[in-house]
Amino acid sequence: MPTLSRPTSPPQAARQAAQARARIAALRAELARLDDELCTGTLLRRMKVCGRPECRCARDPAARHGPYYEWGRLEDGRLVHTQVSPEEAQRIDRAIANYRTLKRLLARWTRESVRAILAESYAETES
Ligand SMILES: [Zn+2]
Repeated sequence: MPTLSRPTSPPQAARQAAQARARIAALRAELARLDDELCTGTLLRRMKVCGRPECRCARDPAARHGPYYEWGRLEDGRLVHTQVSPEEAQRIDRAIANYRTLKRLLARWTRESVRAILAESYAETES
């Protein structure tokens, strides 16, 4: 992405400020549409062998048990693992996607704020 710089003329400043304000309004609307649940971490899906020698899973990888879901995430700097049900895994999956969307929106909002501030302060010094 190009470096954000001050506009070089009053019309450019006005245009940049208006664009930035419109984008911030759109970002707010996108934020409002985000789901309620936000999660961090990673979801592992694994199949397991039960350890009984007579079970089919002992020889046939396709006959392994599961899927089992394990959710790994940081809590207070410590890595925590939780076994979760398939239904919970689905919610967590969505919540992780929501969290990534939120981070993307925040990065864009931050960038548009810089554009707005540089453009609006330029417009003020000119008038
Ligand atoms: Zn088994």
